[in-house]
Order: sequence, then C-alpha cells, then structure tokens
Amino acid sequence: MSKAAYEVVIVGAGIVGAACADEFARRGLQVLVMERDALASGATAAGMGHIVVMDDSEAQFALTRYSQRLWQELQPELPDNVEYEQCGTIWIAADEEEMEEVLRKHESYGKGGVPTEVCSAQRLKHLEPNLRDGMTGGLLVPEDGVLYPPSAAWFLIGRAQQHGAQLRLGASVVEIGQGRVRLRDGSEIRGDIIVNATGASAPELTPGLEVKSRKGHLVITDRYPGFLRHQLVELGYLKSAHSVSSDSVAFNVQPRRTGQILIGSSRQFGVEHKEVDQVILARMLERAQQYMPTLRGMLAVRTWTGFRAATPDKLPLIGSWPGDKSLFLATGHEGLGITTSLGTARILVDQIMATEPEIPIEPYLPSRTAKAYLRA
Ligand SMILES: Cc1cc2nc3c(=O)[nH]c(=O)nc-3n(C[C@H](O)[C@H](O)[C@H](O)COP(=O)(O)OP(=O)(O)OC[C@H]3O[C@@H](n4cnc5c(N)ncnc54)[C@H](O)[C@@H]3O)c2cc1C
Repeated sequence: MSKAAYEVVIVGAGIVGAACADEFARRGLQVLVMERDALASGATAAGMGHIVVMDDSEAQFALTRYSQRLWQELQPELPDNVEYEQCGTIWIAADEEEMEEVLRKHESYGKGGVPTEVCSAQRLKHLEPNLRDGMTGGLLVPEDGVLYPPSAAWFLIGRAQQHGAQLRLGASVVEIGQGRVRLRDGSEIRGDIIVNATGASAPELTPGLEVKSRKGHLVITDRYPGFLRHQLVELGYLKSAHSVSSDSVAFNVQPRRTGQILIGSSRQFGVEHKEVDQVILARMLERAQQYMPTLRGMLAVRTWTGFRAATPDKLPLIGSWPGDKSLFLATGHEGLGITTSLGTARILVDQIMATEPEIPIEPYLPSRTAKAYLRA
C-alpha cells in the first residue's frame, strides 16, 4: 500500500456505507467514513426496513437471500433499538392470476431453500383478520423480517468505530478518484481505496454512472397494537416495482414493534423535490384501504419521502469502477438497500481482499454498465 492517509475512505454514511465501514474495519483495514449530513439521513432514514427475499432475477434472489442470512446471524448482537423482528411477509393474491404467481414464487423460493407456505383465502383471513374479504390467497415467507434502518446503521458504524474506523460528519465531498477525495472546503484526503456509497447522489461523484433517483412516499400511523402481524405486500407490487416509466403505487404495510403501521409505497422517476405529493399520497392510501378498509379510520402521525438509487437492470453496483484502480462503488440498491447492505459489504470487501465470495459477484460488477460510458 502507498503512504495514503487512509487505506479506505468511504463517502456516504447511509446503511450501505455503514455496513462497508464495519466489514472493512473488522477485517483490519484503516477506515475513514465521510458524510455531508447526519448519519443515516438519506434513503436509510426514509426506508421501510423490510428485510425481504425477492426473486425478480437469479442475482436478486442470491443477494437478498444471502443478506437476509447475514441479518439473521447478526440478530443476537443487534441492540433492542434496531427492532429486528422476524415477522414474515405475506404476498397477497387478489385474483387467480396473482394466485398463479403465488405458486410460481412458492416453487422458485423452495428451489432456493427459502421456506414458504401457500395460504388459502381462509388461512389468509386467519393470519391477517383485517384484510378485506374476498382475497384469493397468499404466500407466507416466514423468514422475512423488519427492522428500524437508522438504528441498524448507527449500530454498524458504532461497531466499525470499535474496530478503529473514523467518522466525519458535515464533510461534503465534491470529487473522488485516483486515490484522492476532495472536500467542498478545498481540503484533500488520500485513500488507497475510495468507496462511493452516496446512494442516489452517486453520479454526482462518479459521472457517467447510470443511477437515477426514484422517489417514494411513506406514512406512519398512531399505535394500533395487534392490528397487523406480518409485512403485507400485494402481488401487483411486482408490476409497479418493475415499471420504469410511470408513477405507481402499491399496497405494502408493515407492523412496527410500537404498534404503529408503516404504509407504503409509491415510485416516481423524474421528481427531484422532497415535498409530499398529495395526489400520489392519496392514491397510495386509497390503494392501502382497498386491501385493509379499516385503515381509513386510523390516525396518521407522519408522512415523508425518500429517494431510491435505481439502475437500469435493477441490480446494485458493487465493485471497482473501470479506469480507476482506487475507486469502488456500493450503490444502486433501489428498494432493497436495507436488506442487501450486509451482503453488499461482504462481497465488496471479498473482492478487495481477494477472499472467495459466498455468492457469484459478476451480476453486480459496475463494469457491466461502465462499458458504454468508457467507449464514448
Ligand atoms: C420509501 C422507501 C422505502 C424503502 N423501503 C425499503 C425496504 O423496505 N427494504 C429495503 O431493503 N430497502 C428499502 N428502501 C431502500 C433503502 O432505503 C435504500 O436502498 C438504502 O437506504 C440505500 O442506502 P445507502 O447507504 O446506499 O444510501 P443513503 O441512505 O441515501 O446514504 C447515502 C449517504 O451519502 C451521503 N452523501 C451523498 N452525497 C454525498 C457527498 N457528496 N459527500 C458526503 N456524503 C454524501 C448522504 O447524505 C447519505 O447519508 C426504501 C427506500 C425508500 C425511499
């Protein structure tokens, strides 16, 4: 290694930067994390904290399942304020077509070693009595869970600090690469390895990166203990999460340990402002009430928005950025970055330390998207 000030400089202290800091520091590297705002104040503060296995693609399944396993292994160490609960997900089928998707998912998850239960309409009503009558059925995925993302990020940063990592808040980075990190105040820091973990802001520091902001809204209710027991997601969610052109909403509700209910979700491209969009919000709540009519009478205590970092192929960018030996990416996690933060950190550090990764890393390498940029 050269005489750099730090072996690793991570820019961005969301959950992905925090997980990377923890992984590098525990493997003995000297780490500095630079964050322009507060710790975990970006998408990590806005996210739902659903730790979920998804199977839109083989690579998505591999990373979400791997990461879920890492969360399960970490569970005994997580402090109470992380609120990790293995409450399970139920994917809701509202009609026969969606029930076919239940069966497909059941088979596909089963092949990948993820236990699931196909639920009839009666079983669904038994598990979640506040769903409206007339649903066709669902798929229970009992190993999925939920947590409170900011506390998880604080825990990971805290553990990294115990292993010697340093954290600088209020450090706005304006340029990275070729072993250097330049701050807004003109100062410079050297790093052998620089990790761009700035979420949806990543293209500002790595021009040419195909990452777009995808806005989302969430609402949290007052406390209604026992009203909801699992994370419930409509199977139509898959259609809206896939749509890359239009605004979309889907029924997606989460029970919090406090008895509060987190209600989502929406997806919008091309909207840069943080303000709550009343039209989208109304559509999102209307959708939720179609599935759970008694939500209508509940008191909402807060509504907010956040920005997911979306890539064209819906997979994150984890690994070196071609053309700059010092520069690595850990971004592009769209709506799965809380889930996949631990897997991301593990396979990034495996690449750098030349240890054998537990899952194939090729689908996530930034070189897959950098080719066109580098040719231009
Ligand atoms: C509404 C919504 C619901 C979601 N629900 C879920 C869910 O249920 N499950 C799930 O797994 N995921 C979910 N996600 C996605 C998840 O929140 C993100 O994928 C994850 O938080 C990304 O973490 P990150 O660390 O990459 O980014 P961020 O949390 O955005 O962190 C990036 C950090 O970089 C800092 N930064 C940016 N630019 C600079 C700079 N120039 N200099 C210094 N610092 C900088 C920012 O201030 C920020 O703190 C959801 C997202 C949204 C918006």
